[in-house]
Amino acid sequence: MILIVKRRNFMLLTISLGLLLVLAGFYSFALHPDSDKWKKEGIIISQVSTSQKVIAFTFDDGPNPDATLQVLEVLKQHDAKATFFVLGIHAQEYPHLVKSIQLAGHEIGNHGFSHKIKEYNNTSFAESDIKQSEDVITRITGTRPRLLRPPGGFLSRDLIKYCLEEELQVITWTWQADYKDWKSTDSSYLAEQIVTGIQPGQIILLHDGGQNRQIMIKALTQALPELSDLGYSFVTISQLLALQENPQ
Ligand SMILES: [Zn+2]
Repeated sequence: MILIVKRRNFMLLTISLGLLLVLAGFYSFALHPDSDKWKKEGIIISQVSTSQKVIAFTFDDGPNPDATLQVLEVLKQHDAKATFFVLGIHAQEYPHLVKSIQLAGHEIGNHGFSHKIKEYNNTSFAESDIKQSEDVITRITGTRPRLLRPPGGFLSRDLIKYCLEEELQVITWTWQADYKDWKSTDSSYLAEQIVTGIQPGQIILLHDGGQNRQIMIKALTQALPELSDLGYSFVTISQLLALQENPQ
């Protein structure tokens, strides 16, 4: 009996330790201890305070020949503008897709070159990864991207310092508006989540990069007209920032 209790305690301890480790990992990638301070100072933006019914859709990890043009078509049908946080490695391979995004009037942000999230702990790696992607995007569009979304939302004090020096605006996303579209298996459910969770000023995280993007595209096709009916319009990050009423 004592042995069983001890074993159970040991298991509980192991599970607790495991949970702590998972939380610690989560904390370092998504919720840096200074996140709230940086948000208050406007150094990172995850949402904008506005009474107007505007939201910013963001598409990460592209451009992607299997999805980006389809996303552009859906956005066009609903008179929607959005922001694409492209990866330098894909932009380099598919410059015509980056050009298509730009020509359609959407905003292009930098998501780093390689998406090697863990290596962003090494600030000199992070800086050169960001710069490499910036150079690729600038070559294609003729404009230096001023918005940065670090891969995986990675944040560190050194990275923030770099962004301030380089005048890069760090854009994350509205915590509640991350519907994990990359693993969704049900487009109607995904659309419903987006529509029921909507609030003015949200920055919604979706992905045109990666595999099996058809569910996300279908969900977008369903959600946009429903959101329009609710009175929402869809703007780029820069347009959203200009509509901020009370600095957070
Ligand atoms: Zn990403």
